[in-house]
Amino acid sequence: MNINGIGMTSQRTRMRMIDRLREKGIKDEAVLAAVFAVPRHLFVDEALASRAYDDVSLPINFNQTISQPYIVARMIEVLRNAQPLGRVLEIGTGCGYQAAVLAQIATEVYSVERIAPLYERARKQLRELKLRNVSVRHADGCAGLPDIAPFDGIIMAAAAPALLPALREQLKVGGRMVLPVGMNEQHLYLIERDAHGFRETKLEAVKFVPLLMGKA
Ligand code: SAH
Repeated sequence: MNINGIGMTSQRTRMRMIDRLREKGIKDEAVLAAVFAVPRHLFVDEALASRAYDDVSLPINFNQTISQPYIVARMIEVLRNAQPLGRVLEIGTGCGYQAAVLAQIATEVYSVERIAPLYERARKQLRELKLRNVSVRHADGCAGLPDIAPFDGIIMAAAAPALLPALREQLKVGGRMVLPVGMNEQHLYLIERDAHGFRETKLEAVKFVPLLMGKA
């Protein structure tokens, strides 16, 4: 199938998705521009490409999903807080979609995936898109990346059972972390680090796949 022939790359299809995100409350123009710039259809199977610009999560392999565009936009909006983003860590690369959106906004993106074939595929996809400021690693993200830390931002694409105090130590002072927390009931949390310590803010209810331990 010629993917260019089915209208997926058309400006109109993508702009409709951006309009949806605005309606749902995304205000940060830099985030909206970043979502607009990333060809989401290249991150899903061809059979699902016609739904790539709907605001829904879709299955990828290994029981995982590509995140809903609204959630990607919302998390990056909270992470960025209308300020430039320097070095960012993403935990849970999956297909690499959110990493590609982050790459439009942050100076450096490090993304960690525990499932080897997903890691391989995401790396290849991001390389084909010539996103040279993204580096993908096959590792257990629960440990963060001590050799690259500290980060201006940390974003998690899988739900942790608790707030992960070890990870937040890898934030710079002034840094922000956005993560889903909870088992059956999950909420997004924002963690901000300042000179005195950490401040936690509970945000909206969400639904993510669980954070798992170890490499696979
Ligand atoms: N960021 C993706 C969403 C991926 S879904 C997107 O843009 O659509 C969440 C991913 O987190 C899955 O691929 C899962 O394998 C991964 N994951 C879960 N626990 C992990 C861990 N401890 N370390 C690294 N990746 C993890």
